[in-house]
Amino acid sequence: MTVLTDLTAALVDGSIEVIDLTTPLSSSTPALRLPPPFSNLIDFSLEQVSAYDEPGPYWKHHNIHTGEHIGTHVDAPVHWISGRDGHDVASIPVARLVGPASVIDVSAESAADPDFLLEVEHVEAWKREHGPLAAGTWLLMRTGWETRAGSEETFLNADATGPHTPGVSAACAQWLAEQTPIAGLGVETVGIDAGSAGGMDPAFPAHYFLLGNDKYGLTSLRNLGALPPVGATIVVSPLPIVGGTGSPARVLALVEK
Ligand code: MN
Repeated sequence: MTVLTDLTAALVDGSIEVIDLTTPLSSSTPALRLPPPFSNLIDFSLEQVSAYDEPGPYWKHHNIHTGEHIGTHVDAPVHWISGRDGHDVASIPVARLVGPASVIDVSAESAADPDFLLEVEHVEAWKREHGPLAAGTWLLMRTGWETRAGSEETFLNADATGPHTPGVSAACAQWLAEQTPIAGLGVETVGIDAGSAGGMDPAFPAHYFLLGNDKYGLTSLRNLGALPPVGATIVVSPLPIVGGTGSPARVLALVEK
C-alpha cells in the first residue's frame, strides 16, 4: 500500500497539513431559529455528572444535550420529506464521507449582498477554471460567513423580513443534485439553504433536491480559506446515530503544502 505509506509519511513530515473545518461546539454555538409555529431543536449543552468529586472521585464526565442539527453538522437524506425513504445518518455509506473537496469562493459576492445566491453559471465558470467536479466531491461554498460565527445575531443576520444569508438558487440546487456527481454541499452558514429559501419554489431547495437525491449537507464550516479550489481531501465524521436525521460532525481536510 504505497499510497497510504506515502500519505502517512507526508502527514508526519508536515507536507500534508490537517485543517480543522469544524466550529467548536458549546452552548453558545449559533443555531437555526425557526419562526412560529415551527419547533426548534435544543442547543448543545454539557451537564456535569461528576468532576473528581463524590459522584465520581477519580473522574470527570458529562451528559451531552443537543439537537442533531447544531453547529457543524451533517444533514442526512431522511432529514427532508423528499429523502424520507433514504439513508439515515448512520447508514450513509462511509466511502462518501471521505473525498475530494472543491471550494468555490463567493465571499466577495456574499459580502456585497448577504442574500447572494450561487447559480449554475457560477459553478460552470468555476469548472472552466478548475476542471470538472470529480465523483464524490464535496462542493464547499466559501462565503466568509465564518467571520460572523462569534455572534448568533450577525451569523443569522435576520430582520423583520427574515434571515439574510447566502446560499444556492433553486435551479442551482436542482442541477447540483441531479446533474453533478457531488457527494454533498458544504457551507459556512447555519444551514445548507439560503436565508431567503423559505420563499423559494420549492421551499428550501437545497434540502429538497440534495437530500432527495442521496446527497448530503454540511454546515457551519470554517477555515475554507486554507483550502485550495481543488486538491484537498475532506473527511466528514458524523456520529452514527441510528435513525438520526443528522449529527454534529468533526470535519477535517488534508491539504498538500
Ligand atoms: Mn441540518
